[in-house]
Amino acid sequence: MDNCLFCKIIAGDIPSTKVYEDEYVYAFRDINPQAPVHILVVPKAHIACADAVDEGNSLYVAKCFEAIAKIAKAEGLDSGYRVINNCGEDGGQTVMHLHFHILGGVKLSDKML
Ligand code: 5GP
Ligand code: ZN
Repeated sequence: MDNCLFCKIIAGDIPSTKVYEDEYVYAFRDINPQAPVHILVVPKAHIACADAVDEGNSLYVAKCFEAIAKIAKAEGLDSGYRVINNCGEDGGQTVMHLHFHILGGVKLSDKML
């Protein structure tokens, strides 16, 4: 999609530090890390947010979570990690291309739930 930051990163038009890629998923390090490991996992299809997931595109979401498990192992997050999705304005989403944050490498605090 035109003018989508993460679509441009997936296309290689904007540089990123790639940690994983397959047919459905691209993953790269967050530019403003909030933990020693902070990786963004994005579907290669432009899905705006969690609210836009439906029967036609949910395979991409499943593939994101398959990738998350692989990435966590590759990053050595053996004692755990957190996966976060912010959805929409009230959820604090700033980039309108569905993405999952992997946060780890430290004992995480600030639990909301
Ligand atoms: P959100 O707030 O939408 O859940 O998360 C967006 C994330 O994208 C933020 O953590 C922010 O640091 C990250 N981000 C924004 N622009 C860029 C960029 O150009 N490159 C990378 N690697 N991360 C970005
Ligand atoms: Zn996009």
